[in-house]
Parts: sequence; C-alpha cells; structure tokens
Amino acid sequence: MILITGGAGYIGTHTLVELAMANYDFIVYDNFSNSSEEAIERVSKIIDRDVVYEKGDIRDLQKLEEVFEKYSIDSVIHFAGLKAVGESVRKPLEYYDNNVVGTIRLLECMKKFECKKIVFSSSATVYGDPKTTPIVESFSVGGTTNPYGTSKYMIERILNDLYIADNSFKIVILRYFNPVGAHKSGYIGEDPNGIPNNLMPFISQVAVGKRECLSVFGNDYDTHDGTGVRDYIHVVDLADAHVKAIEYLNSHKFSSEFSVFNIGTGHGYSVLDVIKTFEKVSEKKIPYKITSRREGDVAKCYADPALAERILGWKARKNLLDMCKDSWNWQVKNPDGYKEK
Ligand code: NAD
Ligand code: UDP
Repeated sequence: MILITGGAGYIGTHTLVELAMANYDFIVYDNFSNSSEEAIERVSKIIDRDVVYEKGDIRDLQKLEEVFEKYSIDSVIHFAGLKAVGESVRKPLEYYDNNVVGTIRLLECMKKFECKKIVFSSSATVYGDPKTTPIVESFSVGGTTNPYGTSKYMIERILNDLYIADNSFKIVILRYFNPVGAHKSGYIGEDPNGIPNNLMPFISQVAVGKRECLSVFGNDYDTHDGTGVRDYIHVVDLADAHVKAIEYLNSHKFSSEFSVFNIGTGHGYSVLDVIKTFEKVSEKKIPYKITSRREGDVAKCYADPALAERILGWKARKNLLDMCKDSWNWQVKNPDGYKEK
C-alpha cells in the first residue's frame, strides 16, 4: 500500500485517480490545511470506490506512527507541503517547519518501519535562474530566491544525504515544471485561496467573470513576444509520472536508487500564448494589461524531459489546448472551487 501525503491537494487528487486506474492500493494522509474532504469525495466518484484517508499532520510523528502501524505501507508519495511563494517570504519559519521539518518526521517514521521507497514533489524552482534552456537535471541547483524554493532544495539535499548514509533507500525526486489543467470529468481541479498567484487559475477566473483583468508581468523579456515563457504540464500527465515512478521503484532492477527527473513537456509557452489559447477554447475575451515584471521571475524556464522518457518510460501527452480546455471545464463547473475549504 502507498501512503500519499497531501493526497487531498491539487496534484495529489489527480494522482489518486491515475493510481486507482493502475490498480494500486493507497491511503491518503493530509491535514486539510489547503484542501477539503470534498476533494476526496470527488475522487471516490471518479474511481467509483471509497478512498481511505487519515487526517493528520506530517509533523505529528505519533500520528504518523499510528498510521504506519495500522496499514501495511511499502512506499510513500510525498506531496504534503505549503507552496505559495509570496506567503513563504512573509512566513519563512512556517514554511521551513511545515516542509522541511515535516519531511524529516516522515523520513524518520519510514526508517523506523523499514519503508524505504519514496517519490518526492520537487520543483523547477530549484534551478533558480537557469543559464540556458532547455533545463537538464545536471544543471546547478540551489540558487533559489524565496523560502518555498529553498525548502524544496533543502529537502532534496536531505534526501541525498539520507541515501548516502543508508543506500537501502530508493528515492525518486520529480522536479515539476508548471502544473495546470484538471481531470476531464471536471470533478477535481485546482482550488486556490483568494487571489490566484499563478497564471492559469487567474486567467480562468477572468474568463468566468470573477476578476476583471489579468496583469501580464512584463513584456520586455528576451523571449519570442517579450512575456515570460514556461513549461506548462497537464496535471493528469504529471499524475501519470508518479505512477511511472512507483513502477520504477518497484521494479527489481535496482536494489537501491537515488534519481532526479524533470517533469515537463519540453515546450515553452509565453503568457500571451496561454491567453490566446485560453480565449480560443473558452470563446471569452481575456482583458489584460501589461504591468512591470514580478520580482524573482525568470524570462524562460522549460525542461528537457528526455531522462524521464528514457528511464521511467514517461512522456507528456497533452498539449496547451488540452490544458486550457480542462482548466476551463473545471472553472465553469466549479466557479467557487470546492467551496467548503
Ligand atoms: P496543494 O496545496 O493543493 O496540496 C498539498 C496538500 O498537502 C494539501 O492537501 C494540504 O492540505 C496538505 N498539507 C500541507 N501541509 C501538510 C502537513 N504539514 N501535513 C499534512 N498535509 C499537509 O498543492 P499541490 O499543487 O497539489 O502541490 C503538491 C506538491 O507539489 C507540493 O509539495 C508542492 O510544493 C509541489 N509542487 C507544486 C507545484 C504547483 O505549481 N502546484 C509546482 C512544483 C511543485
Ligand atoms: N504571470 C502573469 N500574471 C499573473 C500570473 C503570472 O503575467 O497574474 C506570468 C509570470 O510572470 C510567469 C508566468 O505567468 O511568466 C507563469 O507564472 P506562474 O506564477 O503561474 O508560475 P511560475 O512563476 O511559478 O513559473
């Protein structure tokens, strides 16, 4: 059985669906600090069976141990964490405590119960401002510009040191690029709190009439139209990468393992490219104004995903049109998200 920390969140819920389709057994562990039980209900609807879950915090070692006693857990997919970049600048201690200390507690518990397989959610943010694109996994990491990014970098280091000390651990780190989109059913999707920080949820809220106008943060970057370029990846493709990572860790080829993979499409799209595609699928005009650059933003960030294809047998299948279509479908069906969060 796989323990899914943070399984009630945006990427977690989509991963539960893909794991269920691949016939894996799992149990969700989440403190619902940024999600709701409603999200779990929705997953049950899609997969047509109950989802087993326990409410708990990854920093609560006693509760974690109870869960490891109760279920026979052989691997962990570790999504739980706080993820808002701006908030992390204002609340660094909370971010390091939740993300870094929480991960240490989880790893202690795994060690105690001889559970040695883990897939960890890292981020392209660990690359900082890359010298060139596309980004390969061997690029230097650690030039992070905010506590959120630094917490991801620190956890990567901790996992690496843990592996050096005990190479019976099998560790896969997935560096996600920009997850967007939603399950095609429209039952689950991204449900940001308040004003969205990220581009796709902001555009969706403008299209549905919840916000008046999108601010495009800068049009003087060295990119094809001057606006920032990112590697947007459909959340269902991203979820599938976790299934492939689990298959890989369960394969008998390796007695120990520490690997890092970029999870992106390999294509870079600008802010204006995303606006245009979203306008096409939603048949809505997206009013926008050009404003100054957002602090900490880089011009271009997109992956070379070849390693994940070669080693995990994973490749993104969905394009920007699918991403916009599915984001829009979720937004229209759930203008206020899960509501009860
Ligand atoms: P999310 O906030 O939707 O999901 C995270 C889940 O973890 C939530 O359900 C939350 O309640 C839970 N959680 C948080 N702290 C916890 C704790 N201490 N104990 C137990 N549960 C806790 O975020 P997401 O977008 O699904 O992201 C999942 C992971 O992927 C995070 O680690 C995030 O940093 C990482 N990531 C996300 C993105 C992105 O753009 N969404 C990009 C790169 C990496
Ligand atoms: N962006 C924007 N307006 C917004 C939100 C984002 O112009 O309201 C731009 C941002 O500058 C970047 C791209 O959209 O070039 C993606 O930003 P997001 O916050 O979604 O992801 P990240 O910056 O983490 O890659």
